[in-house]
Amino acid sequence: MSDSKFSEYDFSQIPFGDIKSFGQRSLLYRNLFNVSWLLGRFCNYKCSYCWPYARSDVKDHRPTDLLIRTMDEIKKQARANDFNSFHFSFSGGEPTLHPGFLTLLSHLSNDSMNSDYQSTHMTSNLSPGIGWFKKYIETTENLSRVSITASWHREFANKEDFRDKIHLMQENDIHVTVNMVMVPTLFEEFYKEALFFHENNINVTLKPQSNTSATKIVDGYTEEQLKLLHNGMPQRNYTEHRMGQKNIQSKRIQTKKLDHGISLTTNTETAPQSMQIELTDRSGKKWYLDQAERFNAFEFNKFKDWYCHAGFQGIVIREPDGAIKRSYSCHDEPLGNIETGFQIFNRPMKCNTPSCVSSVDNKMPKFRD
Ligand code: SF4
Repeated sequence: MSDSKFSEYDFSQIPFGDIKSFGQRSLLYRNLFNVSWLLGRFCNYKCSYCWPYARSDVKDHRPTDLLIRTMDEIKKQARANDFNSFHFSFSGGEPTLHPGFLTLLSHLSNDSMNSDYQSTHMTSNLSPGIGWFKKYIETTENLSRVSITASWHREFANKEDFRDKIHLMQENDIHVTVNMVMVPTLFEEFYKEALFFHENNINVTLKPQSNTSATKIVDGYTEEQLKLLHNGMPQRNYTEHRMGQKNIQSKRIQTKKLDHGISLTTNTETAPQSMQIELTDRSGKKWYLDQAERFNAFEFNKFKDWYCHAGFQGIVIREPDGAIKRSYSCHDEPLGNIETGFQIFNRPMKCNTPSCVSSVDNKMPKFRD
């Protein structure tokens, strides 16, 4: 495995102004419905840079049976629109602190035989002990793919413990990426920590810091730093690599059906592996990006009047109000509420929002006339 810190596929060549459609490949080529679910804002950390609205010291978890009923209703409505593959992505606050989180995951897992494909993701500070992670591994073993975005909080966590938990996940067929917001004034310091994880064969996402309205990246990056944000630390399949080294075979169930019969393995003649995002320009030429997290670094985030699958192929559930929305940035009226009910769209709808800034929103398939 190459240890290049830069992508060999130069993302800055992508003609962003000329792109007419794009999306995450798993959403373009599978009958996959995406749910981004914020389980509550309660968090055990209090990081200096955390936005006040993103966390709370007060436990604000909704009852587990309501979560289970909501999961069932989402699947019922999505199946009515011919989606029978599901990706549930959980965040918070800290999702692992919801007392019913593993019960909810087990409910998801138990439905794998009725679905074409199921996967889960969580964004976690990895604060639970190793015993909790062993239960997490067991609970999710019937899912086709399990991934974690591990938020690295230098003020609270220990680098070596953090690394060891990630290696345990990798050995159990779980894909992990460490997320780091690269504040311009602390760039060098943060970059040293990013290199520690990178050199331990762990994916790191270097995220640019956004302004307070989350519409633009902040000023203050040098040219060299911007180059790192554009092309630095490309995502690699370190889980497969680690399992290979330890001679461990994947036992995950394979996808039963692909919506358009197209393999999700990237065409290696045109793009390297691990490219999650496919873009098509006006001439029909395909371009690839490893992950939607890079869109903001290229300021490719304005899709007003494009057609977007948010609300049709994916929803977000947000707390503390329990709103169910198309996606995070969308200015549309919510689709409903977790307590009182919701209705998913039955087709892609036009975007009426000036900036689309979250990576969850960016990866939803979009196209323009
Ligand atoms: S803001 Fe919402 S509707 Fe607009 S492109 Fe982004 S996800 Fe789609």
